[in-house]
Amino acid sequence: MDALEFHLADEAATDRLARRLAPHIRAGDVIALHGGLGAGKTTFSRSLISAILGARTEVPSPTYTLVQTYDGPDFPIFHFDLYRLEEPDDVMELGWDETMDGLALIEWPAKAGDPLPAWRLDLTLEQTADGRTARLVPHGEDWQTRLHGI
Ligand code: ADP
Ligand code: MG
Repeated sequence: MDALEFHLADEAATDRLARRLAPHIRAGDVIALHGGLGAGKTTFSRSLISAILGARTEVPSPTYTLVQTYDGPDFPIFHFDLYRLEEPDDVMELGWDETMDGLALIEWPAKAGDPLPAWRLDLTLEQTADGRTARLVPHGEDWQTRLHGI
């Protein structure tokens, strides 16, 4: 499988996609979120994080804090928004290395000094006339297998 594409008519559709993916997430996963301002990266992240935490949790956008961390039932979750990162190497101060212990959701991943891990899920969101399109590209056999299951 090269890619999976979904039409997300509204926020509820984004939420459903995130909830389908949530049971397949494991410690050490990296999801790189691509797409311009307002594409829906935070909306997707919020749904995925809420689905994993399984509770009504506030999931603020990391726009200003650059990272928000959550204690999941089995692993921590690191939600990055690197749009305002000044120096690429500053990601190290945000706990970049510790993300291997959990799930890393990364908005604006290209701002990081480190190249992204080769094994990851790329999710690109794009605004259309009638909602959003989501394109999921698995890197690594493991992600491919899991995407078959969603
Ligand atoms: P980003 O993090 O990519 O900048 P946000 O997640 O903050 O974008 O979303 C920006 C706006 O897009 C929000 O107002 C949100 O309600 C809306 N939005 C998100 N997903 C969808 C969707 N599938 N269809 C329509 N609007 C959406
Ligand atoms: Mg955002």
